[in-house]
Amino acid sequence: MKRVSRRRFLYASGAAATAIVLKGCAGNPPGSGQSTTAPAVNVASGGDAVEINTVRLGYIPIFEAAPLIIAQEKGFYAKYGMTNVEVLKQASWGALRDNVVIGAVGGGIEGGQFQMPMPYYLSEGTITASNQKIPMYVLLQTSTQGNGIAVANKHKGKNVHLDLTNAKTYFEQLKGQGTPFTAAHTFGGCNQELWIRYWLGAGGINPDTDVKLIVVPPAQTVANMKTGTMDGFSTGDPWPYRIVAEDIGFMAALTAQIWPAHPEEYFALRSDWVDKHPKATKALIKGVMEAQQWCDKPENRAELAKILSGRKFFSLDESILAPPLKGAYKMGDGQKVVDDIKEGPLFWKDGRGSVSYPYKSHETWFLTENIRWGMLPPTIDTKSMVDRVNREDLWREAAKEMGIADADIPKETSRGIETFFDGVKFDPADPMAYLKSLKVKKVSV
Ligand code: CA
Repeated sequence: MKRVSRRRFLYASGAAATAIVLKGCAGNPPGSGQSTTAPAVNVASGGDAVEINTVRLGYIPIFEAAPLIIAQEKGFYAKYGMTNVEVLKQASWGALRDNVVIGAVGGGIEGGQFQMPMPYYLSEGTITASNQKIPMYVLLQTSTQGNGIAVANKHKGKNVHLDLTNAKTYFEQLKGQGTPFTAAHTFGGCNQELWIRYWLGAGGINPDTDVKLIVVPPAQTVANMKTGTMDGFSTGDPWPYRIVAEDIGFMAALTAQIWPAHPEEYFALRSDWVDKHPKATKALIKGVMEAQQWCDKPENRAELAKILSGRKFFSLDESILAPPLKGAYKMGDGQKVVDDIKEGPLFWKDGRGSVSYPYKSHETWFLTENIRWGMLPPTIDTKSMVDRVNREDLWREAAKEMGIADADIPKETSRGIETFFDGVKFDPADPMAYLKSLKVKKVSV
């Protein structure tokens, strides 16, 4: 219990003391050179002092992290009083999870970028050692689209594209030969796995019995594709662009094609931190929202590519990051080139309105999709889970305080009916009807 009392002491002794202790026990290098300065006065917009100006956030080097990084690099956190934010690159989703579990006082992080429904798994204790529950709050969505499903070159010419109905026999053949199509994702049950599963299921291919799905660390996915030991993987930009550019494989589908303006990744924090620091939380939301507006502007995309390419962030050549930020993807295998900024990653506005606002209906879909595949029991009360974890109320307050136009603030917590590329509809008011309508699923409903 030493850690708990230490945490209590840190909260009691204020921001300056916290900053000093954090520097001493940091497990990761700071994400920015600015991050170690702690000014004496913290002022949020409207003259409202934030309770603390320090926080440690984790990210994975894919475009979904861009708003968290840009808020730091462009001074948007500081603008709202969060003058001592550390944005820290995480080696993997598992490392990100572990760092949230130990929290900033243990040298970890208070939150950051998440696939969905990771914040729910943490809250329920399903992905932590000894099932320790780490209650989380989802605060905003960082981006939509910008993900895809890559397939190895050896499957060219077999109709392994968006609509898999014409590739079903080929998948059966592979299975019959004892070499079932093997696809990887980077963290079980979340976006990347769910996109692969949705894509396969829509084509009448059962992801649990017709193929092999495996979890592979991000760096290894590409190596495995190159050596031909893996047939496909689901990934975020810039990988969908690199796959074809570097002749590692081809793109079977972009997530923008599977579900236009789909929910993607989120900004979430430990609820104990948010409950103690509601003003600081809103200051962070404001900083990230302003960064999202900046990232979304086409005229800023070249600079965004340049910033993200830096050694302390993605450490990649700018020329690899710039095309997908313009929605330019060569799909390969004879498919039409995609060249439309609206098909790439979007950060503030998409075809359905707000990207940033965390719709409860989207989190309901992620939980429902987990039920579909037997990852969560059908008996769970998704509504009460979403009501507990989703803090769209804080988003709304932050949006109003920073003067976001009414037109950019959704009226409802539900975005309404969602339609997928195969014509399937998800009505958030009736998830059971969606589950019943699906032909391929694990759950019996
Ligand atoms: Ca993603």
